[in-house]
Amino acid sequence: MTLYKEMKWIDDLKELLFPRYCKVCRRRLTHSEQHLCVSCLLELPRTHYERTPNNLLMQHFMEWPEVVAATSYFYYDKEGRYSSLIHHLKYYDHPEVGTYLGRLAATELQASGFFEGIDLIIPVPLSKNKLRKRGYNQCDYIAQGISQIIGADLHTHCIERTVNTDTQTRKSRSERWKNTEKIFQVTHANTLKGKHILLVDDVATTGATLHACTSAILKVPNVRISIFTLAKAL
Ligand SMILES: [Zn+2]
Repeated sequence: MTLYKEMKWIDDLKELLFPRYCKVCRRRLTHSEQHLCVSCLLELPRTHYERTPNNLLMQHFMEWPEVVAATSYFYYDKEGRYSSLIHHLKYYDHPEVGTYLGRLAATELQASGFFEGIDLIIPVPLSKNKLRKRGYNQCDYIAQGISQIIGADLHTHCIERTVNTDTQTRKSRSERWKNTEKIFQVTHANTLKGKHILLVDDVATTGATLHACTSAILKVPNVRISIFTLAKAL
């Protein structure tokens, strides 16, 4: 038996013993599919914000000329079928879905020029409590996937989240935004100085978390910021 045939036989056996399913429609995946089947991948509700400079996400950052671009990869409806991707990533202990989606998004967005000139990638940090509970920061995995495609370095320890803001959902928008001020602080300003930073988050909902994180980074001199979120909540 040739090595190729032997490998294929092992792959077939693996598929038989541990079948993989599409995380959206639950259909069995083929050898070449990862996490999503071809039809769910095609129908993923992409925002195409990278083609619209003044998109809904970017509107949260208009006050800062240092924020040069903002985009989200797909729309997130918490009742919709694609919400299962976010659930796997955040709640079902499948951070590798983040790396996969980060790679996918970066591959698709690269031609738009969105990632041009990025020096380093910073995932939005979780609070220590949440990190302890979940065991990982899902944004690190998304950022890792992007880094693998665009080649910019990933830095996970330049910013720290000092306050836990879990209980904010019942507050009004202005209360929430006021509350998120000063929840982040830069711990390695020298690494960020003069750099074009890609800030990465999982889901943009109100924009308050990203706004607070951006505000903390902008205390470092001569930085430019681009913002990427995997999903934009509807
Ligand atoms: Zn599917």
